[in-house]
Amino acid sequence: LNVPDNPVIPYIEGDGIGCDIWQAAQSVFDAAVKKAYGNSKKIEWREVLAGGKAFDKTGQWLPQETEDSFKDYLIGIKGPLMTPVGGGIRSLNVTLRQNLDLFVCLRPVSYYSGIETPVKEPQKVDIVVFRENTEDVYAGFEVASDDPRVDKLKKFLKDEMDWDIKGETGLGIKPMSKESTERLVIEAIKFALKNKRKVVTLVHKGNIMKFTEGAFRNWGYEVALREFPNQVTKDPNDSSKLLINDCIADAFLQNILLKPEAYDVVATLNLNGDYCSDALAAQVGGIGISPGANINYHTGVAIFEATHGTAPDIAGKNMANPSSIILSGKMMFEYMGWQEAANLIEKGVSTTISSKRVTGDLASMMSGDPETLGTNEYAKLII
Ligand code: NAD
Repeated sequence: LNVPDNPVIPYIEGDGIGCDIWQAAQSVFDAAVKKAYGNSKKIEWREVLAGGKAFDKTGQWLPQETEDSFKDYLIGIKGPLMTPVGGGIRSLNVTLRQNLDLFVCLRPVSYYSGIETPVKEPQKVDIVVFRENTEDVYAGFEVASDDPRVDKLKKFLKDEMDWDIKGETGLGIKPMSKESTERLVIEAIKFALKNKRKVVTLVHKGNIMKFTEGAFRNWGYEVALREFPNQVTKDPNDSSKLLINDCIADAFLQNILLKPEAYDVVATLNLNGDYCSDALAAQVGGIGISPGANINYHTGVAIFEATHGTAPDIAGKNMANPSSIILSGKMMFEYMGWQEAANLIEKGVSTTISSKRVTGDLASMMSGDPETLGTNEYAKLII
């Protein structure tokens, strides 16, 4: 990416605690850029609307200009968005990912010293999840049990497939295409090679869903060995190359508790990826601080995001933990090639957490005598 020294970066503040965490995060980002580059680089932050704030101002939950800004400026960042319950409004996050074809959901998971964790050796967890972001049961092909079209679908399935679906039943479709599998697995392998990782694991339920999840596994192996014949191997004894292997999703969820060091880079489908990335984050105590990004590596459009929700119970109270969006900002700087700013953010967050002067949610996961700080005070300490 060719990022100018004064890029415009659109941001969605987000609902609930969005306002609290965004202000804290922006102060950390500006300080990191200033310290790393003096006056030679500076970000022009531009607010774009989505969620409750957008609805109040424009009557739309996700205005077209917001999507257009991300397309125009390529790199953006967002806080959490509430999805209105009922009324047929789809998740705004899913809509953004699909409309901008952000085909990778990238979720790195690693341990921050000082946090108490459910696993005994959390320092062994250093896993990067590449989750397919546009297909699977999240593609949105779902019909409610009382939708008149369900009967037509049932009739089609009975006549054409001899599947007799009885009673009050909602129906959903799970698409998984070769194209989406290949583009995801290629990016996971490129990342693994660039970062000198050892293994890419395809996580799937191909034993049960042969033509979707099983196809994902088969296409994954095929594309890896076809596109990277000299760099990737299926042979676990060939340590000169990047290993590609696979694991069934339920075994994966057991194994990450028992031997997390066996995993490195993971490529998986949308629903598995949703479960696995949160389970991994929880394992290192990082569910509230884990960062994420949604990326289309072909167009370059990337939106970095806080992975938690809007936490309405603590909104506006200077209590929220801004680490998730701050660490997503670190990922954003890496993506921009501003590695020095990214390094400063990493150092600021890790030393602050290990000093045990943190927001309440993190303090409650620490032994000893942690000091509870407000959102703003915590961000100042990171700076
Ligand atoms: P949530 O993540 O908002 O809250 C779960 C619990 O974690 C709450 O007790 C909350 O106080 C706490 N929490 C969350 N983030 C925190 C932070 N940064 N610091 C301290 N504590 C934090 O999940 P929920 O209650 O299930 O969802 C609330 C709303 O958020 C819903 O409308 C949901 O659709 C939305 N949501 C959005 C996203 C997103 O935009 N990426 C993700 C998940 C949920």
